[in-house]
Amino acid sequence: MSDPDGSLPASPGGTESRRGSGCTHLAAIHDVKPNSSGCEECLKIGGRWVHLRLCLTCGHVGCCDSSPNTHATKHFHASKHPIISSLEPGELWKFCYLDELVWE
Ligand SMILES: [Zn+2]
Ligand SMILES: [Zn+2]
Ligand SMILES: [Zn+2]
Repeated sequence: MSDPDGSLPASPGGTESRRGSGCTHLAAIHDVKPNSSGCEECLKIGGRWVHLRLCLTCGHVGCCDSSPNTHATKHFHASKHPIISSLEPGELWKFCYLDELVWE
């Protein structure tokens, strides 16, 4: 004769709610196409980049923070467009500068 003891399954914490729904700037996402096939500023100045980031508000293509010129972040500061996605093949994530949130 066992007593159920009222034990509930342990709740695994609320990390799921941080994915995407935590960003309050989703209205900044438009159905954009990349403006160019490489970092726009680097192409002008002959710079090099490591990875490419796409601004989901205007289609600006900039280079990532591992690149010498970090044009994607500079574009955010200049334009206040908060959300980028990766332009690397197989990478589907988005990133919000204002919330510092990553989601897919
Ligand atoms: Zn956000
Ligand atoms: Zn660049
Ligand atoms: Zn932009």
